[in-house]
Amino acid sequence: MMKSRYIKFFSYLVLFVSIFTATYGALLDSDSGLVIISPNSEEYKKECAMWNAKIKARPAAVLLCSNNEHVKEALLWAKTHGKEVRIRSNRHSYEGLSTADDAAVIDVSSIKLIELSADKKTVKVGAGNNIYSVCQELWKHKLAIPLGSCPTVGVVGLAIGGGIGLSSRLMGLSCDNVTEIEMVDCNGNLIRANRVDYPDLFWACCGAGNGNFGVITSITFKTHPVSKVIVYNIEWQWKHIYDVSEKWFVLLKSAPKELMTFLRFTKRNSQKTLRSFGQFFGTEKELRILLKPLLEISSDAIVTIEECSYMQSVNKWAGVGPEGVSVISNAKSFKATSLYLKDDLPKEAIRIIDDYYSQPAIKDNFTVLDSYGGVINEVGKDFNAFSHRDCIASMQTLAYWEDDEDAGQQLEWSRNYYKDIASYGEGAYANYSDLELEDWEHAYYGDHWEALVSIKKKYDPENFFHHPQSVFFLNAV
Ligand SMILES: Cc1cc2nc3c(=O)[nH]c(=O)nc-3n(C[C@H](O)[C@H](O)[C@H](O)COP(=O)(O)OP(=O)(O)OC[C@H]3O[C@@H](n4cnc5c(N)ncnc54)[C@H](O)[C@@H]3O)c2cc1C
Repeated sequence: MMKSRYIKFFSYLVLFVSIFTATYGALLDSDSGLVIISPNSEEYKKECAMWNAKIKARPAAVLLCSNNEHVKEALLWAKTHGKEVRIRSNRHSYEGLSTADDAAVIDVSSIKLIELSADKKTVKVGAGNNIYSVCQELWKHKLAIPLGSCPTVGVVGLAIGGGIGLSSRLMGLSCDNVTEIEMVDCNGNLIRANRVDYPDLFWACCGAGNGNFGVITSITFKTHPVSKVIVYNIEWQWKHIYDVSEKWFVLLKSAPKELMTFLRFTKRNSQKTLRSFGQFFGTEKELRILLKPLLEISSDAIVTIEECSYMQSVNKWAGVGPEGVSVISNAKSFKATSLYLKDDLPKEAIRIIDDYYSQPAIKDNFTVLDSYGGVINEVGKDFNAFSHRDCIASMQTLAYWEDDEDAGQQLEWSRNYYKDIASYGEGAYANYSDLELEDWEHAYYGDHWEALVSIKKKYDPENFFHHPQSVFFLNAV
Protein backbone atom coordinates (compact mmCIF):
# COMPACT_ATOMS: atom_id res chain seq x y z
CA MET A 1 0.00 0.00 0.00
CA MET A 2 2.76 2.42 1.13
CA LYS A 3 4.79 1.37 -1.88
CA SER A 4 2.01 2.14 -4.38
CA ARG A 5 1.46 5.56 -2.70
CA TYR A 6 5.16 6.29 -3.16
CA ILE A 7 4.97 5.21 -6.78
CA LYS A 8 1.91 7.40 -7.31
CA PHE A 9 3.57 10.38 -5.61
CA PHE A 10 6.75 9.82 -7.57
CA SER A 11 4.86 9.62 -10.90
CA TYR A 12 3.02 12.90 -10.12
CA LEU A 13 6.34 14.48 -9.24
CA VAL A 14 7.89 13.34 -12.53
CA LEU A 15 4.85 14.58 -14.44
CA PHE A 16 4.96 17.95 -12.67
CA VAL A 17 8.68 18.33 -13.26
CA SER A 18 8.36 17.45 -16.94
CA ILE A 19 5.44 19.87 -17.47
CA PHE A 20 7.31 22.53 -15.53
CA THR A 21 10.47 21.91 -17.51
CA ALA A 22 8.62 22.00 -20.82
CA THR A 23 6.87 25.23 -19.87
CA TYR A 24 9.39 26.97 -17.70
CA GLY A 25 12.50 24.94 -18.49
CA ALA A 26 14.00 28.18 -19.59
CA LEU A 27 14.30 29.15 -15.95
CA LEU A 28 16.88 26.48 -15.41
CA ASP A 29 20.53 26.62 -16.29
CA SER A 30 21.93 23.33 -17.49
CA ASP A 31 24.70 21.49 -15.63
CA SER A 32 27.10 22.28 -18.45
CA GLY A 33 26.87 26.02 -17.85
CA LEU A 34 24.56 26.82 -20.75
CA VAL A 35 22.44 29.73 -19.51
CA ILE A 36 18.80 29.65 -20.56
CA ILE A 37 16.89 32.90 -20.21
CA SER A 38 13.12 32.51 -20.23
CA PRO A 39 10.34 35.13 -20.32
CA ASN A 40 10.12 34.69 -16.54
CA SER A 41 13.73 35.55 -16.00
CA GLU A 42 14.79 38.94 -14.64
CA GLU A 43 17.31 39.30 -17.44
CA TYR A 44 14.78 38.51 -20.17
CA LYS A 45 14.04 42.14 -21.16
CA LYS A 46 17.75 42.99 -21.35
CA GLU A 47 18.42 39.83 -23.33
CA CYS A 48 15.71 40.69 -25.88
CA ALA A 49 17.03 44.19 -26.62
CA MET A 50 18.39 44.72 -30.12
CA TRP A 51 20.44 47.60 -31.51
CA ASN A 52 17.52 48.75 -33.65
CA ALA A 53 14.91 49.76 -31.07
CA LYS A 54 12.05 49.00 -33.46
CA ILE A 55 12.75 45.26 -33.03
CA LYS A 56 10.57 44.09 -30.17
CA ALA A 57 10.60 40.30 -30.63
CA ARG A 58 9.86 38.08 -27.64
CA PRO A 59 11.70 34.78 -28.09
CA ALA A 60 10.68 31.63 -26.22
CA ALA A 61 14.19 31.58 -24.75
CA VAL A 62 17.61 33.08 -25.19
CA LEU A 63 20.30 30.42 -24.85
CA LEU A 64 23.59 31.98 -23.82
CA CYS A 65 26.41 29.78 -25.11
CA SER A 66 30.04 30.14 -24.04
CA ASN A 67 31.50 27.29 -26.10
CA ASN A 68 30.81 24.75 -28.87
CA GLU A 69 29.32 22.22 -26.45
CA HIS A 70 26.76 24.78 -25.27
CA VAL A 71 25.78 25.43 -28.88
CA LYS A 72 25.18 21.71 -29.44
CA GLU A 73 23.11 21.57 -26.27
CA ALA A 74 21.16 24.68 -27.27
CA LEU A 75 20.32 23.15 -30.67
CA LEU A 76 19.06 20.04 -28.92
CA TRP A 77 17.00 22.20 -26.56
CA ALA A 78 15.38 23.94 -29.54
CA LYS A 79 14.62 20.60 -31.24
CA THR A 80 13.24 19.03 -28.06
CA HIS A 81 10.99 22.03 -27.44
CA GLY A 82 9.97 22.30 -31.09
CA LYS A 83 11.24 25.87 -31.39
CA GLU A 84 12.59 27.62 -34.47
CA VAL A 85 16.17 28.72 -34.07
CA ARG A 86 17.66 32.17 -34.60
CA ILE A 87 21.41 32.70 -34.34
CA ARG A 88 22.71 35.83 -32.64
CA SER A 89 26.11 37.34 -31.89
CA ASN A 90 26.05 41.09 -31.21
CA ARG A 91 22.46 42.06 -32.07
CA HIS A 92 23.04 44.61 -34.86
CA SER A 93 20.86 42.99 -37.52
CA TYR A 94 18.96 45.95 -38.99
CA GLU A 95 15.75 43.96 -39.34
CA GLY A 96 16.24 41.74 -36.30
CA LEU A 97 17.00 38.57 -38.27
CA SER A 98 18.83 37.20 -35.25
CA THR A 99 15.69 37.05 -33.11
CA ALA A 100 11.98 36.25 -33.46
CA ASP A 101 8.84 35.80 -31.45
CA ASP A 102 8.68 32.35 -29.82
CA ALA A 103 12.07 31.29 -31.22
CA ALA A 104 15.06 29.78 -29.43
CA VAL A 105 17.74 32.45 -29.83
CA ILE A 106 21.15 30.82 -29.81
CA ASP A 107 23.34 33.62 -28.54
CA VAL A 108 27.09 33.19 -28.89
CA SER A 109 28.10 36.59 -27.53
CA SER A 110 29.90 34.98 -24.58
CA ILE A 111 32.45 33.22 -26.83
CA LYS A 112 35.19 35.79 -26.32
CA LEU A 113 38.44 34.07 -27.30
CA ILE A 114 40.98 36.03 -29.37
CA GLU A 115 43.98 33.78 -30.14
CA LEU A 116 46.89 35.03 -32.18
CA SER A 117 48.87 32.27 -33.94
CA ALA A 118 52.52 31.77 -32.96
CA ASP A 119 53.73 33.47 -36.16
CA LYS A 120 51.10 36.24 -35.66
CA LYS A 121 49.92 35.80 -39.24
CA THR A 122 46.41 34.74 -38.25
CA VAL A 123 44.02 35.34 -35.38
CA LYS A 124 41.14 33.16 -34.22
CA VAL A 125 38.23 35.30 -33.04
CA GLY A 126 35.34 33.93 -30.97
CA ALA A 127 31.87 34.88 -32.18
CA GLY A 128 31.18 37.04 -29.12
CA ASN A 129 33.76 39.68 -29.90
CA ASN A 130 32.84 43.09 -31.17
CA ILE A 131 34.93 45.17 -33.55
CA TYR A 132 36.43 47.27 -30.80
CA SER A 133 37.69 44.42 -28.64
CA VAL A 134 39.41 42.78 -31.62
CA CYS A 135 41.02 46.07 -32.75
CA GLN A 136 42.28 46.72 -29.24
CA GLU A 137 43.74 43.25 -28.81
CA LEU A 138 45.45 43.23 -32.21
CA TRP A 139 46.81 46.74 -31.75
CA LYS A 140 48.94 45.41 -28.85
CA HIS A 141 50.89 43.62 -31.61
CA LYS A 142 50.57 46.49 -34.15
CA LEU A 143 48.26 44.29 -36.22
CA ALA A 144 44.77 44.69 -37.66
CA ILE A 145 42.10 43.00 -39.73
CA PRO A 146 39.79 45.07 -41.91
CA LEU A 147 36.54 45.61 -40.00
CA GLY A 148 33.72 48.17 -39.89
CA SER A 149 33.81 51.33 -37.84
CA CYS A 150 30.97 50.87 -35.33
CA PRO A 151 32.66 49.48 -32.19
CA THR A 152 29.78 47.31 -30.95
CA VAL A 153 29.09 45.38 -34.18
CA GLY A 154 29.91 41.66 -33.94
CA VAL A 155 33.05 40.68 -35.85
CA VAL A 156 31.58 37.35 -36.91
CA GLY A 157 28.19 38.83 -37.86
CA LEU A 158 30.04 41.46 -39.89
CA ALA A 159 32.52 39.15 -41.61
CA ILE A 160 30.07 36.47 -42.70
CA GLY A 161 28.00 39.06 -44.59
CA GLY A 162 30.94 41.03 -46.10
CA GLY A 163 32.42 43.65 -43.79
CA ILE A 164 33.32 47.07 -45.19
CA GLY A 165 35.41 49.56 -43.25
CA LEU A 166 38.18 52.11 -43.36
CA SER A 167 40.90 49.65 -44.38
CA SER A 168 38.90 47.66 -46.93
CA ARG A 169 40.24 49.16 -50.14
CA LEU A 170 43.76 48.23 -49.04
CA MET A 171 43.11 44.93 -47.21
CA GLY A 172 39.83 43.69 -48.70
CA LEU A 173 36.53 43.06 -46.97
CA SER A 174 36.47 41.25 -43.63
CA CYS A 175 35.13 38.14 -45.40
CA ASP A 176 38.08 38.19 -47.83
CA ASN A 177 40.50 37.80 -44.93
CA VAL A 178 38.91 34.69 -43.43
CA THR A 179 41.06 31.56 -43.44
CA GLU A 180 38.84 29.21 -41.42
CA ILE A 181 35.33 29.05 -40.03
CA GLU A 182 34.37 26.90 -37.07
CA MET A 183 30.68 26.05 -36.83
CA VAL A 184 28.16 23.70 -35.33
CA ASP A 185 25.91 22.35 -38.07
CA CYS A 186 22.23 21.40 -37.96
CA ASN A 187 23.09 17.91 -36.64
CA GLY A 188 25.26 19.22 -33.84
CA ASN A 189 28.51 18.32 -35.61
CA LEU A 190 31.52 20.58 -35.23
CA ILE A 191 32.88 21.58 -38.64
CA ARG A 192 36.06 23.45 -39.50
CA ALA A 193 35.67 24.82 -42.99
CA ASN A 194 38.52 26.31 -45.01
CA ARG A 195 39.74 26.25 -48.62
CA VAL A 196 40.70 22.56 -48.29
CA ASP A 197 38.07 21.06 -45.97
CA TYR A 198 34.42 21.81 -46.79
CA PRO A 199 35.52 24.43 -49.38
CA ASP A 200 31.97 24.97 -50.67
CA LEU A 201 30.66 25.69 -47.17
CA PHE A 202 33.64 27.96 -46.51
CA TRP A 203 32.97 29.85 -49.77
CA ALA A 204 29.32 30.30 -48.85
CA CYS A 205 29.97 31.48 -45.30
CA CYS A 206 32.35 34.19 -46.50
CA GLY A 207 29.72 36.67 -47.65
CA ALA A 208 26.48 34.72 -47.14
CA GLY A 209 26.89 33.03 -43.77
CA ASN A 210 24.38 35.09 -41.77
CA GLY A 211 22.04 32.61 -40.10
CA ASN A 212 22.15 30.30 -43.12
CA PHE A 213 24.30 27.20 -42.67
CA GLY A 214 25.11 26.71 -39.01
CA VAL A 215 26.11 28.42 -35.80
CA ILE A 216 29.54 29.92 -36.38
CA THR A 217 31.47 29.93 -33.13
CA SER A 218 34.78 31.37 -34.31
CA ILE A 219 36.53 32.69 -37.39
CA THR A 220 40.25 32.74 -38.14
CA PHE A 221 41.46 35.81 -40.04
CA LYS A 222 44.65 36.82 -41.80
CA THR A 223 46.30 39.74 -39.94
CA HIS A 224 47.95 42.86 -41.39
CA PRO A 225 50.71 44.99 -39.87
CA VAL A 226 49.60 48.57 -39.14
CA SER A 227 51.20 51.65 -37.58
CA LYS A 228 50.20 55.15 -38.62
CA VAL A 229 47.44 56.48 -40.85
CA ILE A 230 46.23 59.88 -42.02
CA VAL A 231 42.58 60.67 -41.35
CA TYR A 232 40.64 63.50 -42.93
CA ASN A 233 37.29 65.20 -42.62
CA ILE A 234 35.97 68.03 -44.81
CA GLU A 235 32.66 69.70 -44.13
CA TRP A 236 31.00 72.06 -46.62
CA GLN A 237 27.89 74.15 -46.68
CA TRP A 238 25.02 72.27 -48.30
CA LYS A 239 24.94 74.66 -51.28
CA HIS A 240 28.09 72.95 -52.63
CA ILE A 241 26.35 69.60 -52.96
CA TYR A 242 26.63 69.36 -56.78
CA ASP A 243 30.25 70.42 -56.98
CA VAL A 244 31.31 68.24 -54.07
CA SER A 245 29.52 65.17 -55.41
CA GLU A 246 31.01 65.53 -58.87
CA LYS A 247 34.55 65.96 -57.56
CA TRP A 248 34.16 63.17 -55.01
CA PHE A 249 33.34 60.67 -57.76
CA VAL A 250 36.40 61.80 -59.73
CA LEU A 251 38.54 61.25 -56.63
CA LEU A 252 36.97 57.89 -55.95
CA LYS A 253 37.58 56.55 -59.43
CA SER A 254 41.24 57.62 -59.51
CA ALA A 255 42.19 57.03 -55.87
CA PRO A 256 44.88 54.52 -54.93
CA LYS A 257 43.76 51.58 -52.81
CA GLU A 258 45.46 53.13 -49.78
CA LEU A 259 42.62 55.67 -49.61
CA MET A 260 39.17 54.84 -48.26
CA THR A 261 36.82 57.74 -48.76
CA PHE A 262 33.19 58.43 -47.81
CA LEU A 263 30.67 61.09 -48.78
CA ARG A 264 27.84 61.75 -46.39
CA PHE A 265 24.63 63.79 -46.63
CA THR A 266 22.96 64.34 -43.26
CA LYS A 267 19.96 66.11 -41.85
CA ARG A 268 19.67 66.33 -38.07
CA ASN A 269 17.79 68.93 -35.98
CA SER A 270 16.84 70.83 -39.17
CA GLN A 271 20.53 71.19 -40.02
CA LYS A 272 21.80 69.79 -43.33
CA THR A 273 25.47 68.84 -43.49
CA LEU A 274 27.66 67.65 -46.29
CA ARG A 275 30.97 66.01 -45.58
CA SER A 276 33.64 63.70 -46.88
CA PHE A 277 35.93 61.78 -44.58
CA GLY A 278 38.32 58.88 -44.79
CA GLN A 279 41.54 57.15 -43.94
CA PHE A 280 44.78 56.98 -45.90
CA PHE A 281 47.78 54.67 -45.57
CA GLY A 282 50.48 57.10 -46.74
CA THR A 283 51.76 60.59 -45.98
CA GLU A 284 49.81 63.78 -45.32
CA LYS A 285 51.46 65.39 -48.34
CA GLU A 286 50.28 62.59 -50.65
CA LEU A 287 46.77 62.81 -49.24
CA ARG A 288 46.60 66.59 -49.69
CA ILE A 289 47.49 66.13 -53.36
CA LEU A 290 44.70 63.56 -53.79
CA LEU A 291 42.17 65.76 -51.99
CA LYS A 292 43.19 69.01 -53.76
CA PRO A 293 40.07 69.23 -55.99
CA LEU A 294 37.84 68.77 -52.94
CA LEU A 295 39.85 71.22 -50.83
CA GLU A 296 39.56 73.88 -53.52
CA ILE A 297 35.76 73.84 -53.65
CA SER A 298 35.23 76.46 -50.96
CA SER A 299 37.40 78.46 -48.62
CA ASP A 300 34.79 78.20 -45.87
CA ALA A 301 34.95 74.39 -45.70
CA ILE A 302 35.99 73.03 -42.30
CA VAL A 303 39.01 70.80 -42.88
CA THR A 304 40.87 68.42 -40.61
CA ILE A 305 43.74 66.32 -41.90
CA GLU A 306 45.91 64.64 -39.30
CA GLU A 307 48.33 61.82 -38.77
CA CYS A 308 47.53 59.42 -35.97
CA SER A 309 48.16 55.85 -34.89
CA TYR A 310 45.93 53.18 -36.40
CA MET A 311 44.26 52.71 -32.99
CA GLN A 312 43.63 56.44 -32.58
CA SER A 313 41.89 56.30 -35.91
CA VAL A 314 39.75 53.34 -34.76
CA ASN A 315 38.79 55.33 -31.64
CA LYS A 316 38.00 58.40 -33.67
CA TRP A 317 35.61 56.69 -36.08
CA ALA A 318 34.10 54.61 -33.31
CA GLY A 319 33.42 57.72 -31.23
CA VAL A 320 34.94 55.96 -28.24
CA GLY A 321 35.28 58.09 -25.13
CA PRO A 322 37.03 57.40 -21.82
CA GLU A 323 34.15 55.18 -20.71
CA GLY A 324 34.96 52.74 -23.52
CA VAL A 325 32.35 50.75 -25.41
CA SER A 326 29.52 49.11 -23.56
CA VAL A 327 26.31 49.84 -25.42
CA ILE A 328 24.29 46.77 -26.40
CA SER A 329 21.34 48.55 -27.89
CA ASN A 330 20.59 51.94 -29.31
CA ALA A 331 17.63 53.95 -28.05
CA LYS A 332 16.60 54.78 -31.59
CA SER A 333 14.59 52.94 -34.21
CA PHE A 334 15.60 53.09 -37.85
CA LYS A 335 14.91 51.92 -41.37
CA ALA A 336 17.77 51.43 -43.80
CA THR A 337 18.10 50.87 -47.53
CA SER A 338 21.21 50.13 -49.56
CA LEU A 339 22.28 50.19 -53.17
CA TYR A 340 25.47 49.52 -55.15
CA LEU A 341 26.78 52.01 -57.71
CA LYS A 342 28.65 50.97 -60.82
CA ASP A 343 29.14 54.54 -61.95
CA ASP A 344 28.93 58.16 -60.74
CA LEU A 345 25.61 59.48 -59.56
CA PRO A 346 24.58 61.95 -62.28
CA LYS A 347 23.28 65.43 -61.52
CA GLU A 348 19.64 64.25 -61.59
CA ALA A 349 20.39 61.77 -58.79
CA ILE A 350 22.12 64.45 -56.71
CA ARG A 351 19.03 66.59 -57.27
CA ILE A 352 16.91 63.79 -55.79
CA ILE A 353 19.17 63.69 -52.72
CA ASP A 354 19.02 67.48 -52.43
CA ASP A 355 15.22 67.48 -52.70
CA TYR A 356 14.66 64.70 -50.18
CA TYR A 357 17.03 66.21 -47.63
CA SER A 358 15.36 69.59 -48.08
CA GLN A 359 11.98 68.28 -46.98
CA PRO A 360 11.25 70.27 -43.82
CA ALA A 361 9.65 67.42 -41.84
CA ILE A 362 12.58 65.01 -41.80
CA LYS A 363 14.59 65.01 -38.59
CA ASP A 364 17.35 62.50 -38.37
CA ASN A 365 18.43 60.99 -41.67
CA PHE A 366 21.61 60.35 -43.58
CA THR A 367 22.92 58.87 -46.81
CA VAL A 368 26.50 57.69 -46.94
CA LEU A 369 28.51 56.60 -49.96
CA ASP A 370 31.34 54.16 -49.13
CA SER A 371 34.09 53.76 -51.69
CA TYR A 372 34.58 50.24 -53.05
CA GLY A 373 37.27 49.22 -55.56
CA GLY A 374 40.89 48.53 -54.61
CA VAL A 375 41.45 45.05 -53.16
CA ILE A 376 37.68 44.59 -52.69
CA ASN A 377 37.30 44.34 -56.46
CA GLU A 378 40.73 42.90 -57.25
CA VAL A 379 40.04 39.55 -55.57
CA GLY A 380 37.59 38.67 -58.33
CA LYS A 381 33.91 37.96 -58.62
CA ASP A 382 33.87 34.35 -57.40
CA PHE A 383 36.48 34.62 -54.65
CA ASN A 384 33.71 33.97 -52.14
CA ALA A 385 29.94 34.41 -51.85
CA PHE A 386 30.11 38.22 -51.58
CA SER A 387 28.86 39.26 -54.99
CA HIS A 388 29.39 43.03 -55.41
CA ARG A 389 32.85 43.09 -56.93
CA ASP A 390 32.38 45.47 -59.84
CA CYS A 391 31.02 48.50 -58.01
CA ILE A 392 32.69 51.80 -57.29
CA ALA A 393 30.64 52.57 -54.20
CA SER A 394 27.78 51.52 -51.98
CA MET A 395 25.05 53.89 -50.92
CA GLN A 396 23.30 53.45 -47.60
CA THR A 397 20.43 55.54 -46.25
CA LEU A 398 19.11 55.53 -42.71
CA ALA A 399 16.01 57.22 -41.31
CA TYR A 400 15.82 57.32 -37.50
CA TRP A 401 13.04 58.02 -35.03
CA GLU A 402 12.69 58.00 -31.27
CA ASP A 403 8.95 58.57 -30.91
CA ASP A 404 6.69 55.95 -32.43
CA GLU A 405 4.54 58.74 -33.82
CA ASP A 406 7.39 59.72 -36.18
CA ALA A 407 7.72 56.18 -37.56
CA GLY A 408 5.14 56.53 -40.34
CA GLN A 409 6.64 59.68 -41.76
CA GLN A 410 10.21 58.38 -41.65
CA LEU A 411 9.22 55.08 -43.25
CA GLU A 412 7.36 56.87 -46.01
CA TRP A 413 10.35 59.15 -46.64
CA SER A 414 12.63 56.11 -46.79
CA ARG A 415 10.37 54.22 -49.23
CA ASN A 416 9.84 57.16 -51.58
CA TYR A 417 13.51 58.11 -51.57
CA TYR A 418 14.58 54.54 -52.33
CA LYS A 419 11.98 54.29 -55.11
CA ASP A 420 13.36 57.45 -56.76
CA ILE A 421 17.05 56.72 -56.33
CA ALA A 422 17.10 52.93 -56.90
CA SER A 423 17.39 53.14 -60.70
CA TYR A 424 20.84 54.77 -60.33
CA GLY A 425 22.28 51.61 -58.81
CA GLU A 426 21.56 47.95 -58.29
CA GLY A 427 21.67 45.21 -55.69
CA ALA A 428 21.88 45.64 -51.94
CA TYR A 429 24.17 44.72 -49.05
CA ALA A 430 23.06 41.63 -47.08
CA ASN A 431 24.54 43.08 -43.88
CA TYR A 432 22.11 46.00 -44.21
CA SER A 433 19.03 43.79 -44.22
CA ASP A 434 15.87 45.33 -45.64
CA LEU A 435 12.66 43.33 -45.41
CA GLU A 436 10.96 45.52 -48.01
CA LEU A 437 13.49 44.69 -50.70
CA GLU A 438 12.07 42.89 -53.73
CA ASP A 439 14.02 39.90 -55.05
CA TRP A 440 16.40 40.22 -52.12
CA GLU A 441 17.93 36.85 -53.11
CA HIS A 442 19.57 38.33 -56.21
CA ALA A 443 19.90 41.85 -54.79
CA TYR A 444 22.13 40.50 -52.01
CA TYR A 445 23.84 37.60 -53.73
CA GLY A 446 23.59 38.25 -57.49
CA ASP A 447 24.32 35.18 -59.57
CA HIS A 448 25.84 33.40 -56.55
CA TRP A 449 22.28 32.68 -55.37
CA GLU A 450 21.94 29.36 -57.22
CA ALA A 451 25.27 28.05 -55.82
CA LEU A 452 24.19 29.10 -52.34
CA VAL A 453 20.94 27.17 -52.70
CA SER A 454 22.87 24.00 -53.64
CA ILE A 455 25.18 24.42 -50.66
CA LYS A 456 22.16 24.95 -48.40
CA LYS A 457 20.59 21.72 -49.68
CA LYS A 458 23.80 19.84 -48.95
CA TYR A 459 24.49 21.15 -45.43
CA ASP A 460 21.04 22.00 -44.10
CA PRO A 461 18.59 19.87 -46.11
CA GLU A 462 15.75 20.41 -43.64
CA ASN A 463 16.16 24.19 -43.67
CA PHE A 464 16.67 24.02 -39.92
CA PHE A 465 18.45 27.39 -39.87
CA HIS A 466 16.22 30.03 -41.33
CA HIS A 467 14.97 33.58 -40.98
CA PRO A 468 12.94 35.81 -43.30
CA GLN A 469 15.91 36.40 -45.62
CA SER A 470 17.91 33.20 -45.29
CA VAL A 471 19.04 31.05 -48.21
CA PHE A 472 16.15 28.73 -48.95
CA PHE A 473 14.85 26.29 -51.52
CA LEU A 474 11.37 25.26 -52.35
CA ASN A 475 10.19 21.88 -51.11
CA ALA A 476 12.79 21.75 -48.32
CA VAL A 477 12.34 18.41 -46.48
C1 LIG B 1 25.41 50.77 -35.86
C2 LIG B 1 25.81 49.80 -36.95
C3 LIG B 1 26.99 50.03 -37.63
C4 LIG B 1 27.37 49.15 -38.65
N1 LIG B 1 28.55 49.39 -39.31
C5 LIG B 1 28.93 48.55 -40.30
C6 LIG B 1 30.14 48.79 -41.01
O1 LIG B 1 30.88 49.74 -40.74
N2 LIG B 1 30.47 47.91 -42.00
C7 LIG B 1 29.68 46.85 -42.33
O2 LIG B 1 30.04 46.10 -43.24
N3 LIG B 1 28.54 46.60 -41.66
C8 LIG B 1 28.15 47.43 -40.67
N4 LIG B 1 26.97 47.19 -40.00
C9 LIG B 1 26.15 46.04 -40.38
C10 LIG B 1 26.64 44.80 -39.65
O3 LIG B 1 27.76 44.30 -40.33
C11 LIG B 1 25.56 43.69 -39.65
O4 LIG B 1 24.42 44.19 -39.04
C12 LIG B 1 26.08 42.44 -38.96
O5 LIG B 1 25.35 41.34 -39.43
C13 LIG B 1 25.94 42.55 -37.45
O6 LIG B 1 26.38 41.40 -36.78
P1 LIG B 1 25.99 41.22 -35.23
O7 LIG B 1 26.63 39.99 -34.75
O8 LIG B 1 26.26 42.47 -34.48
O9 LIG B 1 24.41 41.11 -35.31
P2 LIG B 1 23.35 39.92 -35.04
O10 LIG B 1 22.04 40.65 -35.00
O11 LIG B 1 23.71 39.13 -33.86
O12 LIG B 1 23.46 39.01 -36.33
C14 LIG B 1 23.30 39.53 -37.63
C15 LIG B 1 23.02 38.41 -38.63
O13 LIG B 1 24.08 37.45 -38.62
C16 LIG B 1 23.60 36.17 -38.18
N5 LIG B 1 24.58 35.66 -37.23
C17 LIG B 1 25.05 36.33 -36.15
N6 LIG B 1 25.95 35.58 -35.52
C18 LIG B 1 26.03 34.42 -36.20
C19 LIG B 1 26.79 33.24 -35.99
N7 LIG B 1 27.61 33.14 -34.96
N8 LIG B 1 26.65 32.21 -36.88
C20 LIG B 1 25.80 32.32 -37.93
N9 LIG B 1 25.05 33.41 -38.16
C21 LIG B 1 25.17 34.45 -37.29
C22 LIG B 1 22.27 36.45 -37.53
O14 LIG B 1 21.43 35.31 -37.57
C23 LIG B 1 21.75 37.61 -38.34
O15 LIG B 1 21.21 37.15 -39.56
C24 LIG B 1 26.57 48.05 -38.98
C25 LIG B 1 25.37 47.82 -38.28
C26 LIG B 1 25.00 48.69 -37.27
C27 LIG B 1 23.71 48.48 -36.53
